[in-house]
Amino acid sequence: MAVISTAAVVLHTFPYGESSKIVRLATRDHGVLSAIAKGAQRAKSRFGAHLQLMSDGTAQLYLKQNRELQTLAAFDIEHQRMGLTRDIGRYASASALAELILRFAPQEPQPHLYALLTTQLDALTDAEPSLVAQISLGAMWLVVSALGFTPSLDACAVDGCAIDSSGGVHFSVMDGGYLCPACAADRETSRLESADREWLQAFVGGADGVDPPRDGSLPPRHAAAHRRLVSQFIRVHVAEGRELKALHFWETQRWNATP
Ligand SMILES: [Zn+2]
Repeated sequence: MAVISTAAVVLHTFPYGESSKIVRLATRDHGVLSAIAKGAQRAKSRFGAHLQLMSDGTAQLYLKQNRELQTLAAFDIEHQRMGLTRDIGRYASASALAELILRFAPQEPQPHLYALLTTQLDALTDAEPSLVAQISLGAMWLVVSALGFTPSLDACAVDGCAIDSSGGVHFSVMDGGYLCPACAADRETSRLESADREWLQAFVGGADGVDPPRDGSLPPRHAAAHRRLVSQFIRVHVAEGRELKALHFWETQRWNATP
């Protein structure tokens, strides 16, 4: 059995038996996988406190092809990201990203998706409190696009005709993007005013976090509307109707008293 070494993020852990843990890792070189960390529940485990959610480092794994559960030999931590797990808004965002990747990342290695995940987790960890909402929206759209579900923002999602390049626009979740006025007339759409359209385009197009249009941060009411939009888009196109608990928690922000 080969021992391999790869960069990896801890996306989920749960106890296994008396003393071990199962960890679900997003790895740079081997896709998403599950591994047993033997003895990880013991006080003097060689894994120590390293298997914290959202932390990344170098995983050494005994890897066997076609086996569902691999064996984690060691995990050398590089970024612990305690800031994420101490703040519920950041944690909810990171959990929703983790859920998307755990459930929908392809089996094959995805170095681009891995780099995107770690970049966005760092951005969420380091964000000013007032910017967490917009950074999490950017992260969500970037992961959706990286999974192969980029919304159509350049041409009508139904007939491909040109869309006016500025001003308000109709967005159809079902059709997967902007619609021209003719197609919008008999379909269910969300109307995005000019500023919200600019935000959406920043979310979908931003490479390393979001370049906000103009100067301000996204007002809470608009952030809530954008969370609903991307969550509906994910449910229809990525999840195809399957329930996503972490996404729902992030979308509704029930812990947050302000609307
Ligand atoms: Zn059209």
